[in-house]
Amino acid sequence: MRYIDFRSDTVTQPTDAMRQAMANAEVGDDVFGDDPSINRLEESSAERYGFEACLFVPSGTQANLLAIMAHCQRGDEYICGQDAHNYRFEGGGAAVLGSVQPQPLANNPDGSIDLDLIKANIKPDDSHFARTRLLSLENTIGGKVLPMDYLAKAQAFAFNQRLKLHLDGARVMNAAVKLGVNPADIMQHFDSVSVCLSKGLSAPVGSILLGDEATIGRARRLRKMVGGGMRQAGCLAAAGQLALDTMVERLAEDHDNAAYLAKRLNEVDGVECDESLVQTNMVFAKFANDYDVLALGQRLKDKGVVIYKGNPLRLVTHKDVSRADVDTFIEALKQSI
Ligand SMILES: *Cc1c(COP(=O)(O)O)cnc(C)c1O
Repeated sequence: MRYIDFRSDTVTQPTDAMRQAMANAEVGDDVFGDDPSINRLEESSAERYGFEACLFVPSGTQANLLAIMAHCQRGDEYICGQDAHNYRFEGGGAAVLGSVQPQPLANNPDGSIDLDLIKANIKPDDSHFARTRLLSLENTIGGKVLPMDYLAKAQAFAFNQRLKLHLDGARVMNAAVKLGVNPADIMQHFDSVSVCLSKGLSAPVGSILLGDEATIGRARRLRKMVGGGMRQAGCLAAAGQLALDTMVERLAEDHDNAAYLAKRLNEVDGVECDESLVQTNMVFAKFANDYDVLALGQRLKDKGVVIYKGNPLRLVTHKDVSRADVDTFIEALKQSI
């Protein structure tokens, strides 16, 4: 049975072209620097996005960990949003493995963090405190796109405060497509950027980390330390190459389907969805506080639809959810609610 899966864009299957490219990829031992498919992905990505260097890694979680550890030493801290993936959803890796403490701060409704608030939380140079070294932003965050003028202000701020600036750009391509800008226009403001190839871009595995030679050199050593040095991983890089070469523009379709989904959700009694908040491929549906979303999830599953149960319920559109699937879901929801 085929399920219509709204849990995440991570569920996307590799395309036929990706499977072909994976089967035919020229490979070598990447730990020796010998894998032509990985070298091509890293070199072409660095050039395309305006960085000196790039590193192919197994996951977005590892890309963020390596960036934080490459920018910070033991006893340093990074500032990030309270809602940041690299604070909430990465097992506390920076603290556990890097001895780098997070300083989370409230995200504004648009996903930004007030620069004045950040300034007030940079620790003085005093042995009581961790050393504040890094600011980490996320774009998109909860499906929202950070404003371009905020990125420029954050860059100037970080420079003046002598902080490094990292972007968790797991879905930065969604942000670029939404704004109609070149991804490099967003990335130019950052010292390092992580990008997931395995979300809406549909590669089976992998992320890239972009930065200058020195930062990526440290990240490469650290990748080995945390067990992420891969051998003939050109099979994966070949799919990742197609993700960046061919799968970015089509994200607009996911955004259109998300807007359509939000509109149709409001036809359903007992569901509220603020359509004005839908910017990219994420939709949040609110049920009454005491509504049993768990039971709803089971009834929907019986009808062939999978959701990631929560209230608000996060629904993510992607390549493997069509407009007709959205219609099917709405009908299933009307019957199940
Ligand atoms: C998914 C995600 C990650 C982690 O990527 P994985 O490949 O799942 O480890 C990091 N940051 C954000 C914002 C994400 O959405």
